[in-house]
Amino acid sequence: MGIPAHADPLTSVAAPYRIGTLFAILLPIVGLIVIGYSLWGRGFFWTDLILLVVMYSLAAVGTTIGFHRLFTHRSFETYRPIRFVFGVLGSMSVQGPLLRWVAIHRRHHQHSDQVDDPHSPHRNGDGDSGFFGGIFHAHLGWLFKADAPGLDRYIGDLHKDSGMRRVNDWFIVWALLGFVIPAAIGGIVTGTWFGALLGFLWGGLVRMFVGHHVTWSINSVCHLWGSRPFKTRDESRNNSIFGILAFGEGWHNNHHAYPTSARHGFRWWQLDMSYVAICVMKWMGLVWHVRVPAVCQSSPASLGMPAPLEV
Ligand SMILES: [Zn+2]
Ligand SMILES: [Zn+2]
Repeated sequence: MGIPAHADPLTSVAAPYRIGTLFAILLPIVGLIVIGYSLWGRGFFWTDLILLVVMYSLAAVGTTIGFHRLFTHRSFETYRPIRFVFGVLGSMSVQGPLLRWVAIHRRHHQHSDQVDDPHSPHRNGDGDSGFFGGIFHAHLGWLFKADAPGLDRYIGDLHKDSGMRRVNDWFIVWALLGFVIPAAIGGIVTGTWFGALLGFLWGGLVRMFVGHHVTWSINSVCHLWGSRPFKTRDESRNNSIFGILAFGEGWHNNHHAYPTSARHGFRWWQLDMSYVAICVMKWMGLVWHVRVPAVCQSSPASLGMPAPLEV
């Protein structure tokens, strides 16, 4: 079954392809769960499971709340030490230094699903090869390609911030810390080198593997598979699976419709753990000027059924 030549690739992706893509991306994670289950009690213990979940969560909020909502879209404001902490945690996800991450993501929003989008799954030509090549390119292929020239023009604000430049320049240190910390905890808790090795594997390598694929899926799956309540100019989608796994980032059509919103899950059932964390920090007085569009400020009843908007 081929994709018709000359059809607009944005609308010609058949359901079996989209579902197949989702399975291809989720299966390795399912495989990991099976591996963890089969190793339980021999090479995977409670300490490792806790390290995996905690380190994944810390790196995830560093990426979603820090790199994405705070630094890229400035959807809220906070104190400098908290900016520093989010910069460090985001760096632990090993997705590259802060400034480059922000520049590429701002470019993605400016040219979303157009020729100059750094990681669109829709600009790889027609037919089956174009479809599958596009998925590969959006998921991780783009990482192996040279950056577009002039990325610096996207990050003038962060260049002026000496603290953020320092977080950026020390990226490799923060990334290594993301492995040293779980290894040290694993070793201290168990009192063995084997425990340190398992902490490094589960809290470091496995955590990074899952985090990478979940984040990359926002670029690939969430521009292919899911609902589009807002008629944005791109192919962004709301995808429930990655709404949960990526702490709210999977409500990607909402996000492209309102990029500066600190809240990505607009309806009450669209779980957005990053926004929950931002609300808790606001309640504690740690963040302020939290930007949320009017569509989210309606009554709770209307939040269940926001009217689709043209943007
Ligand atoms: Zn996008
Ligand atoms: Zn964004």
